[in-house]
Amino acid sequence: MNLCIDTHSHTIASGHAYSTIREMAKAAAEKELSALAITEHAPAMPETCGNFYFSNLKVIPRTMYGVNLLFGVELNILDEEGNIDLPPSLLKSVDIAIASIHTPCFQEKRGIEENTRAYIRAMQNPYIDIIGHPDDSRFPIDYEQVVYAAKETGTLLEVNNSSLSPGSFREGAEENLKIMLSLCKKHRVPITTGSDAHVDIDVGNFTYSSKILASCDFPEELIVTTNLDKLRKFLKRNKNM
Ligand SMILES: [Zn+2]
Ligand SMILES: [Zn+2]
Repeated sequence: MNLCIDTHSHTIASGHAYSTIREMAKAAAEKELSALAITEHAPAMPETCGNFYFSNLKVIPRTMYGVNLLFGVELNILDEEGNIDLPPSLLKSVDIAIASIHTPCFQEKRGIEENTRAYIRAMQNPYIDIIGHPDDSRFPIDYEQVVYAAKETGTLLEVNNSSLSPGSFREGAEENLKIMLSLCKKHRVPITTGSDAHVDIDVGNFTYSSKILASCDFPEELIVTTNLDKLRKFLKRNKNM
């Protein structure tokens, strides 16, 4: 299985990441990726870029060093209603959108019910393509319900390599992803792969993701990052184009 697309990465614009767009694109070319999504943290994350950053993404070329580039956002899910931190006009205009729960930005009681509802409500947004790292025991969820909602709404669930890396601050990712992947397999729900690189060396790093996908014997046809046309077809925002 050739995971040749990375749907989740950050540059210096995110405030706690360390490489430029050019460095990230070059690293993607060196790893022979066909496409890389650069998905900066949305404005509620401390010290990231603001709305204006997302309003001018059109000036950046969508190919560098032979790699297709998608410029998007990693939104913060703010509450159990699934509210997020980018105005709808900007959310519509980006190439790809991930929505994630992050410790500094989620202002709810962090129980299974609240977290699950937050993800489901976010998935109902027609411009949220991916749920980022739904694998963290600090934000426990009901995987049956989340996978079912992903299927209903056509939202991709992410296998995040950083979550699986030793020393990750997220908890229980391996056990949680095994549960998620077995349900995705059973219910035929597609997944995406993101390195969540915050530095160029980590672009396209799927070391741990590949292992877990192999150990679950996860079907290749349900992995959208093996081919760019396939990924584009699965992005909710492109479905009616
Ligand atoms: Zn994140
Ligand atoms: Zn991220």
